[in-house]
Amino acid sequence: MLNKCIILVLFFMSMNFSVFAATTCDEDGLWLQVLGSGGPELDDGRASSSYVIWSEGRARFVIDIGSGSMFQFEQSGASINDIEAIMLSHMHVDHSNDLPALIKASFFSNRSHDLPIFGPSGNNFMPSLKHYVDGLFGNEHGAYRYLSSYLDGSDTYRLLPHNVDVTKQKEETVLVNSQYKLIAIPVHHGVIPALAWRVEFADKAIVFSGDMSNRYNTLVRLAKQADILVAHNAVPEGVKGVARSLHMPPSVIGQIAEQAHVKQLVISHRMKRTLGQEKTTLTHIRKKYEGPVMFADDLQCFRL
Ligand SMILES: [Zn+2]
Repeated sequence: MLNKCIILVLFFMSMNFSVFAATTCDEDGLWLQVLGSGGPELDDGRASSSYVIWSEGRARFVIDIGSGSMFQFEQSGASINDIEAIMLSHMHVDHSNDLPALIKASFFSNRSHDLPIFGPSGNNFMPSLKHYVDGLFGNEHGAYRYLSSYLDGSDTYRLLPHNVDVTKQKEETVLVNSQYKLIAIPVHHGVIPALAWRVEFADKAIVFSGDMSNRYNTLVRLAKQADILVAHNAVPEGVKGVARSLHMPPSVIGQIAEQAHVKQLVISHRMKRTLGQEKTTLTHIRKKYEGPVMFADDLQCFRL
């Protein structure tokens, strides 16, 4: 990716506005790159949920790590050595499945500093992040216990799992230093423990909704004045039943974006039930939110 020319693509949307996105991220500045813009389907032509935040040509944060995303990580030119932290929204396959691929690949890297990974606490339906990591790499029962050296400190770096308590609907700052701040807030995704994430870097903020129904009404707080809100649009307007109890329709996305005064909205987690309906989706978002709206594709870059 480095040293490639940036190709800026001007996207004209149907509502008399335009925004810019690039097919590669530049070496300068802060960028959001979409690794996976899809959901769990295997016939949508997209990797499952995953994003990278680039700063000055280095991929610093991975948010979600769904199926197929590590192939896109390779395509993006990101280096395992540069990752500061991984944040998972929840433990569904399409958000967590490629973690073993990253850890195994790190054997072939020069990584020598610890790698924190954050995710939700568990319940009867889902393991906590720590339980999930132990189930993968724990030296007694882990499915990939041959990689347990990345947990016990006997390798070149340690994977450091941390749970975020989802029982309190409060913001939690999980990592902060002079450069950046990582903040989570629980969101409602049916019975599944789930988090939205906010990454503050320099004077910019990027917020990731994850999968959520908005029953807790917490995202609007986390997304306040964000430069980019990445909102997961898994269902069309008017959907009912289980799908609505798990996901937010376009009108709710528009309402949150408006109330939070976000500067740009990126629609992701695109599934076959919403693909091809972008015009209708945009119409419902537009009833509430007037700012720039982009529909994400894999490997797309957004400058902050
Ligand atoms: Zn999902």
